[in-house]
Amino acid sequence: QEQNEMADLLEPVMGRKVIVTGGTGYIGSHTVVELIAAGYEPVIIDNLYNSDISVLEGIRAITGVTPKFWDYDLCDSQKLEEVFRAEGKVDAIIHFAAYKAVGESVRKPLDYYRNNLTSLMNLLAAMDRHDTPALVFSSSCTVYGQPDTLPVTETSPVKEAASPYGYTKQAGETIIRDTIAARPAHKAVSLRYFNPIGAHPTAFIGELPRGVPENLVPYITQTAIGLRDELKVFGTDYDTPDGSCIRDYLHVVDLAKAHVMALRRMLDGENKAGYEVFNLGMGKGVSVLEAIAAFEKASGVKLKYTITGRRAGDIEKIWADPSLANRELGWKTEITIEEAMETAWRWENRLKNKE
Ligand code: NAD
Repeated sequence: QEQNEMADLLEPVMGRKVIVTGGTGYIGSHTVVELIAAGYEPVIIDNLYNSDISVLEGIRAITGVTPKFWDYDLCDSQKLEEVFRAEGKVDAIIHFAAYKAVGESVRKPLDYYRNNLTSLMNLLAAMDRHDTPALVFSSSCTVYGQPDTLPVTETSPVKEAASPYGYTKQAGETIIRDTIAARPAHKAVSLRYFNPIGAHPTAFIGELPRGVPENLVPYITQTAIGLRDELKVFGTDYDTPDGSCIRDYLHVVDLAKAHVMALRRMLDGENKAGYEVFNLGMGKGVSVLEAIAAFEKASGVKLKYTITGRRAGDIEKIWADPSLANRELGWKTEITIEEAMETAWRWENRLKNKE
């Protein structure tokens, strides 16, 4: 008996294997860093459609580990099968890979439906064939549209999607819920991200927008560094205290940590329902003008911006009630918006110095 207990104590707790799709992308790469720090063994699948292989060097610079990497398209189910066969037992999957540009999805809906839904369904089928017990899915606060009451909780109604991108998140959640309902041994969590910003504090990894950024913070930092002439604030005539739109910004490292906590809950903890949904946000609304002020304070740079008309498709205001994730995952944000802006600025400067 005593010998057995000793053997248990010596059993390594390290080395649980997690497939991370989209792991060289913005949120994926930060999550890979947190997985390594927590003792997991991440294996990345990414076709580099929207990321760069050099991200692996950034991950190594932070963690001392170069994660295993498969340059495969998840829409190719045979390639996916090859990965699962080669990797053997996989404990969980975190599924980040998707196209994510809202505006582009309106112009190319079929590309978005094909890529985002085919890859998810291929992954669920592989999970079934190889009996992988747990999945984390990247969802989004876009599923709520413009909510009737704020802050939004997980039981707030899901509104009709405003874009094909948004619909791929709604449909993705439903596909996962139904699949898990048919497989009592498997578990899944959808994480509805609010607005992730910033970069790793080491500035070895960060957001790499291709072309003109659609998101506010990369646009701010690119303007401040001189890559863009000026920032356009889309509307200051909204029904908000300063008239500009309100969002719930959270730092990408805080967001990454929530994935590790969601895995822990499914693999070791108390996930009684097979499928669960959590909002991930700071729980605080910040206006565009306040975000600009936070950047100016953090960087010491005065930003050039003008106020223009509203942008089609923008909702007025949204922020999260993250109390379910606080309570059930033991997760909460720790990084302030000023600190987040400082990391975004450090990252933009590093990109400039690398040129
Ligand atoms: P990202 O574009 O930086 O990362 C996604 C990665 O997936 C990229 O590296 C891309 O090359 C890869 N990919 C896409 N399609 C693929 C395919 N068929 N096969 C293999 N790899 C593929 O995006 P991100 O900001 O890190 O977002 C990650 C996830 O979070 C996405 O699902 C996105 O919709 C969701 N999300 C992002 C935000 C945000 O503001 N960044 C907000 C809410 C939800």
